[in-house]
Amino acid sequence: MPARRLLVVLAAAAVATASCTTTGGGSLPGPTGPLATSTTSTTSTTGPQSPASSATGGTQPSGTATSIAVSPSPSTSAGTVAGNTKTIARTVHADELGVVPVLMYHQLVATPGKDRYNETPAAFLAELTRLERDGYVPITAAQFAAGAIDVPAGKHPVVLTFDDATTSQFQLGADDHPVPDCAVGIMQAFAETHPDFPARATFFVNKGAFAKTPNPLQWLTDNGFEVAVHTVSHANLGTLTDAKVQKEIGDNFQTILAATGKAPTTFALPYGVHAKNRVLELRGTTGGKSYSISGVFLVGSDPSKSPFRKGFDVANIHRIRSQSTPGGPNDQPYESAAELTVLEQHPERLYTSDGDPKVVSYPKSRAKDVGTLPAGLVRNAY
Ligand SMILES: [Zn+2]
Repeated sequence: MPARRLLVVLAAAAVATASCTTTGGGSLPGPTGPLATSTTSTTSTTGPQSPASSATGGTQPSGTATSIAVSPSPSTSAGTVAGNTKTIARTVHADELGVVPVLMYHQLVATPGKDRYNETPAAFLAELTRLERDGYVPITAAQFAAGAIDVPAGKHPVVLTFDDATTSQFQLGADDHPVPDCAVGIMQAFAETHPDFPARATFFVNKGAFAKTPNPLQWLTDNGFEVAVHTVSHANLGTLTDAKVQKEIGDNFQTILAATGKAPTTFALPYGVHAKNRVLELRGTTGGKSYSISGVFLVGSDPSKSPFRKGFDVANIHRIRSQSTPGGPNDQPYESAAELTVLEQHPERLYTSDGDPKVVSYPKSRAKDVGTLPAGLVRNAY
């Protein structure tokens, strides 16, 4: 990139971010209660909660840090940060310790009725539009759990996750393309007109996934989507023996591996219910074959901590239930419509990228919040 263009971009970004009233020194709200889960489940968690209702009334201007149209030179040698990464991090107010929304979707249906877990295709498209407008870029659950976050400087990662592998999420039509009103069809059409918001998502699947399409798991993997574990039979793991827990996870893991050639690395708990023996959610053996999982995702309720933040727990990753139409007062704090509005009002809480996947940038005021970083990543406090 010519130096002159870089300077122009940096200057523009500096002007745009000057209107922000914060540099990212805020801390997360403390614990307030249990997660919202499906009505049939119980769950427990160790992370903090931030119901939207606790965070309304902010006075900061709407908007997010401005994207910067350059990629920094990757910082490759251990312990060093490229000079332009440092400059860009300051310019865009990068904060890679901020929160990341992990959105949870179920079925896209014409008339969701009172089902809190389903939405219309139009509502899904509206949420993609909102996310793109607010400066989000999708990454997969696997990338998130591994701390392999590759979004441009100034942008915010978001994780789109789909549970239960229904045909409203993915179905190929007679022309061998996804049907237009399934989630994959909507994401791909949106990405064509919004190249800064690629079609990337994670599908947590069960036995008989996407029944109307041949070899659906292979197709999804070949087209940039992640296929991940949701147990064979959508089991309530809290009711099962250790052997049955391992069979539900391990057999699902092997089905995905056989279909795609890739071992899945993430797992969403059906109903958000933990196994009695939680270590089996991460690793186990069944039928003589072992499985290993790097990230376990819960059901609902608030944005996740950054994977680089102290206290981030790969065995309890928070999700937000996508819901565009407000539910009752008890539900509202856990819905995407409310949570995304809070983050729009408080962009300083968000994970904002420095554009360099090898470097974890954050304001010096947050240095105490840094957790253990994945191997090969370098800190950049500014
Ligand atoms: Zn499910």
